[in-house]
Amino acid sequence: MKKLIYSFVLAAFFLAACKNSNTTATTESKPTSEVVAAPSETEITISGDDQMKFDTDAITVPAGKKVKLTLVHTGKLAKEAMGHNWVLLKPGIDPQEFAGAAMKAKESDYIPESRVGDVIAHTDLIGGGESTTITFDAPEAGMYEFICSFPGHSGMMKGVFIVE
Ligand code: ZN
Repeated sequence: MKKLIYSFVLAAFFLAACKNSNTTATTESKPTSEVVAAPSETEITISGDDQMKFDTDAITVPAGKKVKLTLVHTGKLAKEAMGHNWVLLKPGIDPQEFAGAAMKAKESDYIPESRVGDVIAHTDLIGGGESTTITFDAPEAGMYEFICSFPGHSGMMKGVFIVE
Protein backbone atom coordinates (compact mmCIF):
# COMPACT_ATOMS: atom_id res chain seq x y z
CA MET A 1 0.00 0.00 0.00
CA LYS A 2 2.73 2.35 0.94
CA LYS A 3 4.44 1.58 -2.31
CA LEU A 4 1.28 2.31 -4.25
CA ILE A 5 0.87 5.72 -2.62
CA TYR A 6 4.48 6.42 -3.34
CA SER A 7 3.94 5.56 -7.01
CA PHE A 8 0.87 7.74 -7.11
CA VAL A 9 2.71 10.69 -5.63
CA LEU A 10 5.54 10.12 -8.01
CA ALA A 11 3.11 10.04 -10.96
CA ALA A 12 1.39 13.20 -9.76
CA PHE A 13 4.72 14.89 -9.36
CA PHE A 14 5.73 13.77 -12.82
CA LEU A 15 2.50 15.16 -14.30
CA ALA A 16 2.97 18.42 -12.47
CA ALA A 17 6.52 18.62 -13.70
CA CYS A 18 5.35 18.02 -17.24
CA LYS A 19 2.69 20.65 -16.97
CA ASN A 20 5.17 23.03 -15.48
CA SER A 21 7.72 22.49 -18.18
CA ASN A 22 5.03 23.06 -20.81
CA THR A 23 4.13 26.34 -19.22
CA THR A 24 7.77 27.30 -19.13
CA ALA A 25 8.16 26.43 -22.77
CA THR A 26 5.16 28.56 -23.68
CA THR A 27 6.48 31.47 -21.71
CA GLU A 28 9.90 31.14 -23.25
CA SER A 29 8.59 30.96 -26.79
CA LYS A 30 6.69 34.20 -26.43
CA PRO A 31 9.55 36.69 -26.62
CA THR A 32 11.02 34.72 -29.52
CA SER A 33 7.87 35.12 -31.58
CA GLU A 34 7.75 38.80 -30.71
CA VAL A 35 11.17 39.42 -32.17
CA VAL A 36 10.42 41.05 -35.50
CA ALA A 37 13.10 40.63 -38.10
CA ALA A 38 14.30 43.90 -39.57
CA PRO A 39 12.11 44.50 -42.61
CA SER A 40 14.00 44.08 -45.85
CA GLU A 41 11.73 46.57 -47.56
CA THR A 42 11.25 50.27 -46.98
CA GLU A 43 7.74 51.42 -47.74
CA ILE A 44 7.31 54.92 -49.07
CA THR A 45 4.15 56.71 -50.14
CA ILE A 46 4.27 59.93 -52.11
CA SER A 47 1.28 61.75 -53.49
CA GLY A 48 0.68 64.22 -56.26
CA ASP A 49 -2.35 66.45 -56.65
CA ASP A 50 -4.23 68.63 -59.14
CA GLN A 51 -2.05 71.59 -58.09
CA MET A 52 0.92 69.92 -59.78
CA LYS A 53 2.68 69.22 -56.48
CA PHE A 54 4.21 66.26 -54.72
CA ASP A 55 3.52 66.17 -50.98
CA THR A 56 7.22 65.85 -50.24
CA ASP A 57 10.45 67.04 -51.81
CA ALA A 58 12.75 64.71 -49.90
CA ILE A 59 12.65 60.95 -49.39
CA THR A 60 15.25 59.14 -47.30
CA VAL A 61 15.75 55.38 -47.39
CA PRO A 62 18.38 53.04 -45.94
CA ALA A 63 20.97 51.57 -48.28
CA GLY A 64 20.98 47.88 -49.17
CA LYS A 65 17.25 47.35 -48.98
CA LYS A 66 14.36 47.21 -51.35
CA VAL A 67 12.15 50.24 -51.69
CA LYS A 68 8.43 49.75 -52.13
CA LEU A 69 7.16 53.08 -53.37
CA THR A 70 3.52 53.92 -53.90
CA LEU A 71 2.52 56.99 -55.87
CA VAL A 72 -0.99 58.24 -55.13
CA HIS A 73 -2.76 60.83 -57.25
CA THR A 74 -5.06 62.61 -54.81
CA GLY A 75 -6.56 64.86 -57.47
CA LYS A 76 -9.51 64.42 -59.81
CA LEU A 77 -8.06 65.42 -63.17
CA ALA A 78 -7.50 62.82 -65.88
CA LYS A 79 -4.11 61.40 -66.74
CA GLU A 80 -4.11 63.29 -70.06
CA ALA A 81 -4.50 66.65 -68.33
CA MET A 82 -2.71 66.18 -64.99
CA GLY A 83 -0.83 62.92 -65.23
CA HIS A 84 1.81 62.14 -62.62
CA ASN A 85 4.61 59.66 -62.45
CA TRP A 86 7.65 59.35 -60.21
CA VAL A 87 10.96 59.06 -61.99
CA LEU A 88 14.21 58.49 -60.09
CA LEU A 89 17.18 59.63 -62.16
CA LYS A 90 20.70 58.29 -62.14
CA PRO A 91 23.41 60.57 -60.70
CA GLY A 92 24.61 63.18 -63.17
CA ILE A 93 21.38 63.26 -65.18
CA ASP A 94 20.03 66.78 -65.43
CA PRO A 95 16.33 66.59 -64.45
CA GLN A 96 15.31 69.48 -66.69
CA GLU A 97 17.17 68.06 -69.64
CA PHE A 98 15.56 64.66 -69.06
CA ALA A 99 12.14 66.30 -68.76
CA GLY A 100 12.75 68.08 -72.07
CA ALA A 101 13.29 64.75 -73.79
CA ALA A 102 10.40 63.16 -71.89
CA MET A 103 8.00 65.80 -73.17
CA LYS A 104 8.25 64.31 -76.65
CA ALA A 105 7.61 60.75 -75.48
CA LYS A 106 3.85 60.78 -75.00
CA GLU A 107 3.51 57.31 -76.54
CA SER A 108 5.65 55.82 -73.77
CA ASP A 109 4.00 57.82 -70.96
CA TYR A 110 6.82 60.38 -70.97
CA ILE A 111 9.63 57.92 -70.33
CA PRO A 112 11.63 58.23 -73.56
CA GLU A 113 12.90 54.86 -74.71
CA SER A 114 16.25 56.39 -75.62
CA ARG A 115 16.67 57.63 -72.04
CA VAL A 116 15.67 54.50 -70.12
CA GLY A 117 19.33 54.13 -69.15
CA ASP A 118 19.14 57.43 -67.26
CA VAL A 119 16.46 56.09 -64.95
CA ILE A 120 16.94 54.04 -61.78
CA ALA A 121 13.23 53.39 -61.34
CA HIS A 122 9.94 54.89 -62.37
CA THR A 123 6.24 54.36 -61.80
CA ASP A 124 3.47 54.27 -64.35
CA LEU A 125 1.77 57.50 -65.30
CA ILE A 126 -1.50 57.86 -63.39
CA GLY A 127 -4.48 60.19 -63.27
CA GLY A 128 -6.66 61.52 -60.45
CA GLY A 129 -7.85 58.92 -57.96
CA GLU A 130 -5.34 56.32 -59.07
CA SER A 131 -2.29 54.84 -57.41
CA THR A 132 0.60 52.71 -58.52
CA THR A 133 3.33 50.81 -56.68
CA ILE A 134 6.84 49.82 -57.70
CA THR A 135 9.57 47.90 -55.91
CA PHE A 136 13.23 48.42 -56.64
CA ASP A 137 16.62 48.01 -54.98
CA ALA A 138 17.82 51.16 -53.25
CA PRO A 139 20.83 52.45 -55.18
CA GLU A 140 24.13 52.91 -53.38
CA ALA A 141 24.34 55.57 -50.67
CA GLY A 142 24.11 59.06 -52.08
CA MET A 143 21.74 61.74 -53.21
CA TYR A 144 19.52 61.35 -56.25
CA GLU A 145 16.87 63.46 -57.89
CA PHE A 146 13.30 62.55 -58.73
CA ILE A 147 10.76 64.27 -60.92
CA CYS A 148 7.37 63.86 -62.50
CA SER A 149 8.15 63.72 -66.21
CA PHE A 150 4.70 64.79 -67.45
CA PRO A 151 5.20 67.85 -69.69
CA GLY A 152 5.65 71.01 -67.67
CA HIS A 153 5.61 69.30 -64.26
CA SER A 154 9.26 68.75 -63.42
CA GLY A 155 9.85 72.39 -62.44
CA MET A 156 7.36 71.99 -59.58
CA MET A 157 7.25 68.24 -59.09
CA LYS A 158 10.76 67.35 -58.05
CA GLY A 159 12.76 66.37 -55.02
CA VAL A 160 15.74 64.57 -53.64
CA PHE A 161 16.00 60.88 -52.87
CA ILE A 162 18.60 60.22 -50.21
CA VAL A 163 20.08 56.78 -49.62
CA GLU A 164 22.05 56.46 -46.41
ZN1 ZN B 1 2.93 65.40 -62.68
